[in-house]
Amino acid sequence: MEKDLLIRIAYLVASVLFIVGIKMLGKTSTARKGNTLSAVAMFIAIVVTLLDSQVLSLTEIFVTILVGSAIGTIAARRVEMTSMPEMVAIFNGFGGAASVLVAASEYWRMAHDAGMSMPVVVGVTIVISVIIGSVTLTGSLVAFGKLKGLINGRAIVFSGQHAINAILFLAVLALSVLVVIDPNMEIWMVGVLLIALLLGVLTVIPIGGADMPVVISLLNSYSGIAACATGFVLNNQVLIIAGALVGASGIILTQIMCKAMNRSLTNVLLGGFGQTGGAGAAAGGGEEIVVKEVGVEESAMLFESASSVIIVPGYGMAVAQAQHVVRELTDVLERNGTSVKFAIHPVAGRMPGHMNVLLAEANIPYDKLIEMDQINDEFANTDIALIIGANDVVNPAARTNPGSPIYGMPILNADKARTVIVSKRGMSAGYAGIENELFGYPNCLMLFGDAKSTMTKVVSELKEAIPA
Ligand code: NDP
Repeated sequence: MEKDLLIRIAYLVASVLFIVGIKMLGKTSTARKGNTLSAVAMFIAIVVTLLDSQVLSLTEIFVTILVGSAIGTIAARRVEMTSMPEMVAIFNGFGGAASVLVAASEYWRMAHDAGMSMPVVVGVTIVISVIIGSVTLTGSLVAFGKLKGLINGRAIVFSGQHAINAILFLAVLALSVLVVIDPNMEIWMVGVLLIALLLGVLTVIPIGGADMPVVISLLNSYSGIAACATGFVLNNQVLIIAGALVGASGIILTQIMCKAMNRSLTNVLLGGFGQTGGAGAAAGGGEEIVVKEVGVEESAMLFESASSVIIVPGYGMAVAQAQHVVRELTDVLERNGTSVKFAIHPVAGRMPGHMNVLLAEANIPYDKLIEMDQINDEFANTDIALIIGANDVVNPAARTNPGSPIYGMPILNADKARTVIVSKRGMSAGYAGIENELFGYPNCLMLFGDAKSTMTKVVSELKEAIPA
């Protein structure tokens, strides 16, 4: 009884830490602490569960935790910021696999143990866990393969695709009912498992291009729901709570991303974004964009005489790893009395919060990072909007061109600034694969070259003009 109470208290502590941790992840300033709290909660949950169930000896528990933590630490330290979505995808897949393994083994244990019957509730939660976990596993593997370039990253669509998926979905539901009615027919469970694995592949292959990170967030939510269902199978409260938190936060994040891209979730799941590679044609309108180039020296002179600058970072800043030189630029401009702010678009980069993480790494104060809705009206009164490696998130076609695939997506109004300076290597399109008419606007100047190297040159020019 006493042991039981201790376990419940430990689970309660872990659950509270999970909830507080996830709350703290909502703000850049507390995110690191939130992450640590959640890791401590997970440690408590694992140790207590394994001790309680007496599955493993104490030594085995710590050895397995050490091995798992070492793999996780190495993977997280080595991963490039630009490859983060791939890592999240594969980790989601592991989460799904874990749920399937636990639920399936529980099924086999119950089905095989002589004299044991399976209550309906347990049967239902087992099949839910197996179905969602399997879809998460294979869906995440396909998403990983697409992002890594191992398989075609574009949407793969064929006729009758939705009908096939619908039939498979109905088949898996029918087999699930049979499993619950008669758990001893193992072949039905094998059917559920195989069809769900196939469904994971078939539901993710028609999704491509800019929609992939949304799908990864959705799969993240699935992995939480699967874990939550497994928690019901095992009657383990901490797993139910942790799973529910992941499931709910994943779906909220998915909604935020869809809203920021002006897409509905159904549209993402059925739309086949980027399947033809012709998105650019849809937006370009056929007219060639004539741009005005600006050099390093002239840019430095413009910055020197500006009293307000808004920096718009995008994916290219992450590729160039230009965040530290951007910090230097901010320092030198502020020394000159210029007001400097950062405009953060919710889907700038390749994952939510991508820009916040990079700028925090360069010690840019959090209060300089202003969200889109708060800063958009300020562009009109700003001397220079400096766009560093951003493209889609400042594309005015989202406001002006109903034929554009991104029409309706909320964008940063950088084009309204008195002067716009764009730092990018050439005229390549962004993730959505469409031309950007902003580059041809009369107030827009293109500063061609890798963001880090051109910004370093601009900063050294400025440092000469504005001594410390
Ligand atoms: P984009 O992908 O639109 O554009 C990035 C630009 O960076 C490119 O045009 C590229 O041009 C430039 N670039 C690349 N490397 C460098 C470099 N070394 N130096 C300077 N420039 C460079 O980025 P945005 O951040 O504007 O938009 C993000 C896109 O990702 C949106 O379409 C969004 O919908 C999508 N997305 C984002 C998600 C998120 O959560 N953040 C989720 C889902 C989708 P060039 O090659 O000419 O240099």
